[in-house]
Parts: sequence; structure tokens; C-alpha cells
Amino acid sequence: MITLALSKGRIFEDTLPLLRAAGIEVLEDPEKSRKLIIGTSRPDVRVVLVRASDVPTYVQHGGADLGVAGLDVLLEAAADHGGGLYRLLDLGIARCRLSVAVREGYDYAATVKQGSRLKVATKYTHLARQFFASKGVHVDLVKLYGSMELAPLTGLADAIVDLVSTGSTLKANHLVEVEKIMDISARLVVNPAALKLKREPLRALVEAFEAALGAQA
Ligand code: ATP
Ligand code: MG
Repeated sequence: MITLALSKGRIFEDTLPLLRAAGIEVLEDPEKSRKLIIGTSRPDVRVVLVRASDVPTYVQHGGADLGVAGLDVLLEAAADHGGGLYRLLDLGIARCRLSVAVREGYDYAATVKQGSRLKVATKYTHLARQFFASKGVHVDLVKLYGSMELAPLTGLADAIVDLVSTGSTLKANHLVEVEKIMDISARLVVNPAALKLKREPLRALVEAFEAALGAQA
């Protein structure tokens, strides 16, 4: 059995066409079913649904052989509890960027230039710490789990580090993107032990994914 860990929402939606191109149909719609383990048209392949940030944990500990997770989640998890999984393919899906944003009118450049402390709210504390350290900016980090946009509006922080795609959420909350930290897309990751034990079926699956990506490009 090959177990693939996906998160509901955009990762699942964007992975479906790749699975389909690899000849694998997922048998249930996670938005309609409450099941956490979903079968596929291939009796030896199943999908498990986990939180986006839990995908690396499942793959690292062998709860899943493979997984699809954003580079944001993978890098943050790697900083937290080491590598322990292989990043095999850039799937080019769920594209966005990790950026710094501030309230409209906040003079980010001046804060940085003066060497003042910047209070930053984010879910990505490791990535934010690394980024500001590389720039020599002193930061106080506030860890949040969601609704980052609220932090600068309530005085909880001067800036946020968050994912941006169209920028419409920032705009709706009177925030402006002031710096891009990195481009993000989802990656196919694999458990190294599984890659040894289930070498042939996993390789075939990864090659089918690769072919699907090639066909899309
Ligand atoms: P959780 O539900 O566990 O809090 P989440 O809210 O981060 O996770 P999603 O919103 O489904 O879950 O995001 C999953 C992944 O999709 C992110 O890790 C990121 O790589 C990518 N992503 C997030 N936001 C966007 C966006 N606005 N545009 C494109 N891709 C995004
Ligand atoms: Mg989200």
C-alpha cells in the first residue's frame, strides 16, 4: 500500500489533476465526506487527509509514504525538527510568496534604516527570524496561528510575515506588501525509508507525477 498525505483545500484541489494524469482517481470528495482515509482507483494507493502543517510530520514518521506540502510548511518544519524527508519534485501548484507586510502609512524603510526593533507577527517564526537576521534587522517575534492581518491593525505588531498570492486580503485590511522573502510552491516529499522499502512502486508513481508535470508545461 502507498499512502499519500494531502491537506484539504488548495493542495488537494491542485494535486487532483496531477493524480488524474498519473491514472489515479480519488474516490471521494473530502469537502463532502468526513472520511480521513480515501481510496483511489488504484487498490494499492490511498490518500490520507491531514492539516497542511502536519504533512511533513506524517511523512517524516512514516504515517504516509509521500505527501504534498508548501515550501513554507516544509522549511518551517525543517527548522523546527530537522529534515527527515526528501523533497522530490516541485509540483508548481499552490503558488504564492512569503512576504513582509505592514499597515498602510507605516514607514517600514525608516524602521529598518534606523535599526529600531520591529515587532513581527507570524505563523512562520523560524523563516521570519532567519530572514530578518540575514538583513541585520532586530525583531521581536509574536507567534500566531491565523488571521495574521489583524496584528498590525490592533497594535499587536508592526509587521506580519505571511503568504500572499493576489494581495487582495492585504488590501482589504489596509496592509501593504513591503518585501518578498521567497517564492512558494508545493513540493512532493517522500519518507526515505519508504523509498528504500517500496522503491519500485514509489518510483513509478513519482515518474508518473513527473510526466504529468511535463505534459502540463
Ligand atoms: P491549516 O489549515 O493547517 O492552518 P493552511 O491554512 O496554511 O493550513 P491552506 O490555506 O490550505 O492551509 O494552505 C496550504 C498551502 O497552500 C500553504 O502552505 C501554501 O504553501 C499554499 N498557500 C497558502 N495560501 C495561499 C494562497 N493565498 N495562494 C496560493 N497558495 C497558498
Ligand atoms: Mg489558509
